[in-house]
Amino acid sequence: MKPFYITTPIYYVNGRPHIGHAYTTFAADTLARYWRQRGHEVVFLCGTDENSQKNVEAAHKEGERDIQKFVDRMSAVWQETWDSLGISHDVFVRTTSPEHKKAVTALAAKVWEAGDIYKGVYEGLYCVGCEAFLTDSDLENGLCSIHRLPPKPIKEENYFFRLSKYRGRLLDHIEAHPKFIQPESRRNELTHYIANAMADISITRQSAEWGIPLPQDSSQAIYVWFDALINYLTGVGYGSDEKRFKKTWPADLHLVGKDIIKFHCALWPAMLISVGLPLPERVFAHGYFTVNGQKMGKSAGNDIDPTALAKEWGIDALRYFLLREIPFGEDGDFSLERFKERYEGDLANGLGNFAARVLAMTEKYLDGRVPEVVSAPVEDLWTAFNDAVEKLAFDEALRLIWLRIGECDRLINTEEPWVLAKTDKTRLERVLYILLENLRQVSLMLWPIMPETSEQILARLGVLAIEKSEPLSERRVWGGLKPGTKVKKGDILFPKKS
Ligand SMILES: [Zn+2]
Repeated sequence: MKPFYITTPIYYVNGRPHIGHAYTTFAADTLARYWRQRGHEVVFLCGTDENSQKNVEAAHKEGERDIQKFVDRMSAVWQETWDSLGISHDVFVRTTSPEHKKAVTALAAKVWEAGDIYKGVYEGLYCVGCEAFLTDSDLENGLCSIHRLPPKPIKEENYFFRLSKYRGRLLDHIEAHPKFIQPESRRNELTHYIANAMADISITRQSAEWGIPLPQDSSQAIYVWFDALINYLTGVGYGSDEKRFKKTWPADLHLVGKDIIKFHCALWPAMLISVGLPLPERVFAHGYFTVNGQKMGKSAGNDIDPTALAKEWGIDALRYFLLREIPFGEDGDFSLERFKERYEGDLANGLGNFAARVLAMTEKYLDGRVPEVVSAPVEDLWTAFNDAVEKLAFDEALRLIWLRIGECDRLINTEEPWVLAKTDKTRLERVLYILLENLRQVSLMLWPIMPETSEQILARLGVLAIEKSEPLSERRVWGGLKPGTKVKKGDILFPKKS
């Protein structure tokens, strides 16, 4: 069976990861875990984009003359960050690696053979921040609308890619594959761009001191986006392991920010069609990230370090907050105040308190033993939960789980097990089984999103998050919690902070 292949963008190494990068990477990690938990083989790719002029400028700014040394050091920072945040990627691509360079050279040669590269003169405006040539629609008062900086006027002889040749093919593909570009707003934007504005694009830079040389004219370096997009092929064996590549490509899902959707849904598929490779199934763009209502960035001085937050509050709390607070695909705001509110309300007083109460009552009244199975008194949540995750509505998926936690809290308050312990042992056992089994169900569901917390709760219930011998489709059935299992209360999951 073809593995589920999911990617994040590969990031420039001119700075350190901020919370916006962590947000995308947590979302990808959640989907990778979701499919693994359901028994699928998964390939989850992350990486660093190292051939950019932005990286050269950042190295110079630090007084580093050896650019390779600089990108080596910075790429390690990104890898360490993802490791410290528990990201479960299978592949980490570096675009200065020999395998990637070889793959880019091979792919450029194929595009050349297809007759899709020609020499021309580029005259126009270039934004180094975007690593892109700007058109009128990208400008506001003469400045790049994203970076608020004046672009550089450039006139030079370049090689161009016949992007416009693929206009019809791209539009046909988008129409025939409604899931190819999501959400819908981005799909409409891209359709409009491809139909009306998309033009041939310069894919080399003259006399660039850094980058992969064009094999047919080594005085020119390949444009960083043309190079970077190919990482999605390199990471699964293109040009080095054909068997692995054939098994894994195309990608099932590219997660991207909405600022780079044009590259992923116009240039990238056109490159793939040019060399005869299948297109990715789905490209999903999330929105912009603001901090306290302000656009985040190094220059604004408000970029938030995800590792510091995770250290203080826990990785899972951060994952929960980001995926619960911001509907994936829309713009979202990060504020520490809002984070603390959700930590206290949803995690400490919500999930954490629910787990602690149920386990403590079982210890106290039933000597820690799971009572006899009670037939399902509640609606099965799994179908709705799975649908939400698969359409990347993580906020909705979490809302469903928390609705169930709320119902369980109400059951505790109306049944009053502490009273039943004295008056009606049979009813007490029934109520506690319903609560314990619900705790098992929501903890299993939560694993892709909050793996550590899920594993902790499940361990207290004597259950594993993944059982190799038993598929989730069987484990999710009501009544899976075995009578007689010894449970334990354990430590507080989300300690309150003063
Ligand atoms: Zn820009």
